[in-house]
Amino acid sequence: MYELVVIGGGPAGMAAALSARENGIKDILILERDKELGGILNQCIHSGFGLTTFKEELTGPEYAQRYVRMTLDENIEYMLNTMVTEVHGIDEDKDNCIVTAMNREKGLFDIECKAVILAMGCREKSRGALNIPGYRPSGIYSAGTAQRYVNIEGKMPGKRIVILGSGDIGLIMARRMTLEGAKVLCVAEIAPYSGGLRRNIVQCLDDYDIPLYFSHTVTKIHGKKRVEGVTISKVDENYNPIPGTEKKYECDTLLLSCGLIPENELSRAAGTQIEKSTQGPVVNENLETTARGIFACGNVLHVHDLVDNVTKESVIAGQKAAAFIKEGIKDWGEAHPVKIPSKEKNTIPEDMDRSCQMICIRCPNGCLLTAKKGVDGEYEVSGNLCPKGKEYAINEMTKPMRNISSIMSVENGQGPVVSCKTSSEIPKGKIFEVMEMIGKTTVKAPVAVGDILINDVAGTGVDIIATNVMDKEG
Ligand SMILES: Cc1cc2nc3c(=O)[nH]c(=O)nc-3n(C[C@H](O)[C@H](O)[C@H](O)COP(=O)(O)OP(=O)(O)OC[C@H]3O[C@@H](n4cnc5c(N)ncnc54)[C@H](O)[C@@H]3O)c2cc1C
Repeated sequence: MYELVVIGGGPAGMAAALSARENGIKDILILERDKELGGILNQCIHSGFGLTTFKEELTGPEYAQRYVRMTLDENIEYMLNTMVTEVHGIDEDKDNCIVTAMNREKGLFDIECKAVILAMGCREKSRGALNIPGYRPSGIYSAGTAQRYVNIEGKMPGKRIVILGSGDIGLIMARRMTLEGAKVLCVAEIAPYSGGLRRNIVQCLDDYDIPLYFSHTVTKIHGKKRVEGVTISKVDENYNPIPGTEKKYECDTLLLSCGLIPENELSRAAGTQIEKSTQGPVVNENLETTARGIFACGNVLHVHDLVDNVTKESVIAGQKAAAFIKEGIKDWGEAHPVKIPSKEKNTIPEDMDRSCQMICIRCPNGCLLTAKKGVDGEYEVSGNLCPKGKEYAINEMTKPMRNISSIMSVENGQGPVVSCKTSSEIPKGKIFEVMEMIGKTTVKAPVAVGDILINDVAGTGVDIIATNVMDKEG
């Protein structure tokens, strides 16, 4: 018997468990189906996480590791490689919630608890859900699957790539595959705008001259055994392909990045009401679902673009679940669908004067900056919401700089690669030289976050540091 069981050990699950502990709950158990805590963040090796929570820009594994550390420091119990198969809330027949799970050691087992927090995250829409006609050759991956292969398994899914969908995952994977030596031929987006951040269009596509075609979709996949090519076509305002606009690309891989769906099979089976617009459970103001004693937070509730918002919401779920456990069942009012901010519709302005205008990549705001030399020869910058924007614009006009995140081979490690990044920015022109050095280097396990893996990489004065832990095998 536990006071609280949290399903999912991603950022939402860990933040909710820590918050419940802070609010007086002692017996907490996190159940995670994967072999480690951290959720999707373990494969998101790029930076862009934690600007609100930690006031610094971290990579996904670094953000996850901070929460893993706190979870360990608080002695919160967790079970890995454990899949939850069923959840029941409190009802007339049962005073407690029941969670059914399975793992290799215990087989199928039930856990009784006073409350449950659902934090199972979301999954990508599959090809089947997208209705692309044609055969089913190999070489078609969801962008997240490809991300896992490259960033965790150290394997490349292909060499010549077309990406369908310009949400952040698609954009980030376009850069990632390019950095690892693949040719990304284009990103096709069915909408006339991108659901991804403007700064990602700049730093993931523009930096590498990868074309982004709005109002385009894949209309044919060529090849029977392996993808041999992809045809994309322009679409009209109803998203119907326009005949005569077809363009064929010879490629071996198609990555699909066409949206995420909250992972709610368990929630549905538990009888919670699911909201059509979010595909997540309907919750009351305390994040309790319509099943008594079952709370929800993070991507399982609705898809969040920023992990900082996931953390904020999960802290509330932890607090409210703690209050529920300590104070007993309360009438907390009507459940209602979560109100989510409308999705951004981003484009790079077509009339942007690239000789003096740019999109700032310093934070998700993506300000449109103008930098012009004044009479004194100094740059005057406008359009920036913060001083970082001014500094970025001046650098961009004089010596463009970028941070790089990648992976490095590991000897004797529990996994084949460890994630790493530049300790500070390097000149943009040095990116591929730095990538070559990273590609040629192998480190020995164990590796800790912050370990220097390459000193003064490619003569930049910048180090390559580890962003994740890699323990020794066995
Ligand atoms: C590719 C990608 C790029 C992103 N880039 C950024 C970015 O640059 N900046 C940013 O701030 N945010 C970014 N995000 C968003 C952010 O990472 C997510 O919103 C956040 O990680 C969601 O946290 P979560 O805990 O809800 O879900 P997850 O991290 O998905 O964790 C859910 C966990 O639940 C486990 N689970 C699921 N079902 C079960 C079950 N039945 N039994 C046991 N365990 C289960 C899963 O294994 C997983 O570990 C990105 C997201 C993705 C997918």
